[in-house]
Amino acid sequence: MMAETPRPGSRRLLIAGGGLPSLALALALKQAHGPALAVTVIDPSGADPARHRGRAYALAAGGRRMLARLGLWDRLTDVAEPITEMVISDSRLADPVRPVFLTFGQDSAQEAEADRIDGEPFAHMVEAEPLAAALAGACRDVGVGFVTAGVVRAAPEGTAIGVELTIGGRLRGDLLVAADGARSRLREAARIGWVGWSYPQVGIVATIGHARPHGGRAFEHFLPAGPFAILPLRDGGTLGHRSSIVWTERADAADALLAGEPEEVLAEIERRFTLDLGALALEHGPSRHPLALGLARSFHAQRLALLGDAAHVIHPIAGQGLNLGLADAASLAEAVTGALRLGLDPGGPDVLRDYERARRFDSFAMAAATDGLNRLFSNDALPLRLARDLGLGIVDRLPGLKRFFIGEAAAARGTRPRLMRGEAL
Ligand SMILES: Cc1cc2nc3c(=O)[nH]c(=O)nc-3n(C[C@H](O)[C@H](O)[C@H](O)COP(=O)(O)OP(=O)(O)OC[C@H]3O[C@@H](n4cnc5c(N)ncnc54)[C@H](O)[C@@H]3O)c2cc1C
Repeated sequence: MMAETPRPGSRRLLIAGGGLPSLALALALKQAHGPALAVTVIDPSGADPARHRGRAYALAAGGRRMLARLGLWDRLTDVAEPITEMVISDSRLADPVRPVFLTFGQDSAQEAEADRIDGEPFAHMVEAEPLAAALAGACRDVGVGFVTAGVVRAAPEGTAIGVELTIGGRLRGDLLVAADGARSRLREAARIGWVGWSYPQVGIVATIGHARPHGGRAFEHFLPAGPFAILPLRDGGTLGHRSSIVWTERADAADALLAGEPEEVLAEIERRFTLDLGALALEHGPSRHPLALGLARSFHAQRLALLGDAAHVIHPIAGQGLNLGLADAASLAEAVTGALRLGLDPGGPDVLRDYERARRFDSFAMAAATDGLNRLFSNDALPLRLARDLGLGIVDRLPGLKRFFIGEAAAARGTRPRLMRGEAL
């Protein structure tokens, strides 16, 4: 256990959960406020980066700018691959050709964002373990405390909130951030309602080696069971080049597919992988992830703020869950900083209301958009296929609509929090 004792007169922020958005929040606030704010991250794994091994995330431009502002991006360029083009196709598994209906290129991203930095790709694929290690290391360097324990319960105590730990002992803070994941115990204990459902699909994630370079292109094939995404990673692995796949499959079919020997699993991946990247090899995984949609009815309770998957869970069809969590971290850091600079209570109701106002619509809009896309595409009915293929063709020809899609995905428009625009808190 390593929790900083707040200096007299300083404030304390407690964060339950050491995932990527919470580490970004801890770092942003500690960098901005130093000894005036004690920040403690409480996680049963001590925020161990190894938990993220083999995962990679599509990080939108806003998240990249936030990491750059926090001084981390330069350390991550060896594990980040720019996505320069996104190609979308829609077909059945047995179809001999997969017609391309929609392409997003770097040029479209440039048109889309008035405030973008020249030449900036709309997203990067970033390996999650080194990202977590860089965040946790930078947090330790600036004096964020880490406690290796779970939070058992939390209760407001006048002008503070008290937290009980699984290892015994208690901590008190001005504000507790519940970043304890989709099944947040703290959200339930605070009796914050949750609207949502599980999808009859799972996400299968693996790192695939291939003999030919991907050229920075990402592909999303919409198959009847769900999207099959191929996302470019930095070169490496046994065949010289690598991509990450996020394969959405019906849950029952996925169990049967994953029960096979590794070469049988690879053969199933090859049937879907269509891209001509030469010989393929399974470098890491596959791992299986249940998929769900969920949105908290409120993003706060007394002296408690929900952050990341504890506040919203979305389908990975657009690779936006972590990006939403980082936007939460940027907005909450902004709201807390505003209060501290005015000498106000960082856990007070105004701060929490400002935070919710900044984040709720964006989270709802992204949840609705990803759910709609998944329903529209994970379906083999002929009229629906014709309608969506026509829809994608129309979007591809209308720059305004395409800009909207990319602007949404890049999370970098003027309404975004300062850190996501690359500005200081
Ligand atoms: C298949 C798949 C692909 C995805 N791809 C992308 C992508 O490309 N881009 C993207 O932006 N997003 C993506 N996402 C979403 C992304 O993975 C999540 O949104 C993100 O990891 C959520 O982070 P989190 O910290 O909120 O939650 P988690 O990562 O679940 O972390 C929760 C933490 O809380 C801790 N904890 C739990 N209980 C307690 C307790 N009682 N006390 C203290 N700590 C506790 C846990 O140990 C854990 O460390 C994907 C998701 C899936 C399923």
